[in-house]
Amino acid sequence: MKIGFIGLGIMGRPMALNLLRAGHQLTVWARRAESMQPLLDAGASAAASPAALAEVADVVISMVADAPDVEQVMLGEQGVASAGRPGLIAVDMSTIRPAAARAMAAHLLARGIDFLDAPVSGGEVGAIAGTLSIMVGGGVAAFETVRPAFACMGHNIVHVGDSGAGQVAKAANQIVTGVGVLTVAEALNFAARSGVDPARVREALLGGFAYSKILENHGQRMLDRNFKPGFKSWMHQKDMNIVMQSAHELGLCLPVSAATAQMYNAMVGSGLGEEDSIAILKLLERLSGVDS
Ligand code: NAP
Repeated sequence: MKIGFIGLGIMGRPMALNLLRAGHQLTVWARRAESMQPLLDAGASAAASPAALAEVADVVISMVADAPDVEQVMLGEQGVASAGRPGLIAVDMSTIRPAAARAMAAHLLARGIDFLDAPVSGGEVGAIAGTLSIMVGGGVAAFETVRPAFACMGHNIVHVGDSGAGQVAKAANQIVTGVGVLTVAEALNFAARSGVDPARVREALLGGFAYSKILENHGQRMLDRNFKPGFKSWMHQKDMNIVMQSAHELGLCLPVSAATAQMYNAMVGSGLGEEDSIAILKLLERLSGVDS
């Protein structure tokens, strides 16, 4: 398949590399030339703009940051839509508001371009291993066309429903993971402040109902005090904001998500935005009078 890829950061770079390794013909574009270099070294071609990339691709994938970034690369000047021909499939794998994904689908469809929202879960580790969970919203025919490409990047590939449904699933995922990271940090901080080794507490909890991948992986990274992103805190703030905005639109009560969203606001406000979301442990420690 001829694939164009835009957004070669922590997630996009390994995802694009996996497409290349599987034998797809890959063209990349990034606003900074150095972001493209690892892909060019591995055999990808470079395009001069998203529009130039759309001219040579059957499927264009974006993995950028937030909705304004997706709008810029898809609909902006020199964007995918300005050159994309009918039959092209645009796939956004970033995490954005469901309503923004639905609006994007409508804009692109008016130009004969199909659009799938296909956000992911599994983090940098899953992106490198090609084991992401991919949650897809949009037409079934476009989904079936792109499925072989998804299979190079993920293991659990679910067509969730119509446009925006993938982003609804991802927002639900971020409720579970956002709250989960906070509760694991709380439990480890509680153990440490109680004078008990948090590593032994984690080990004990792993065998019972408190087991989770978050306790296993992120809990270990908290113990190692490895706050290198990973998943930047400002990105998780963005995602909790998506959850709260959607709840507001629906008139929905999400009390635990609301409290968690406040904690991610505080992380960004206190200068932890560029650190991994597990640095929420540092915030809890500061609030508990622990030097970190
Ligand atoms: P990242 O490392 O910051 O990478 C984002 C990439 O997008 C960067 O290379 C950036 O280019 C590019 N970009 C952003 N805005 C752009 C724009 N307006 N025009 C062109 N390029 C633009 O972020 P990431 O961690 O890979 O996350 C990407 C998306 O995946 C986000 O929506 C995030 O919420 C989601 N996600 C992340 C994880 C994770 O664990 N990291 C897991 C699941 C989902 P520059 O290099 O020029 O800045």
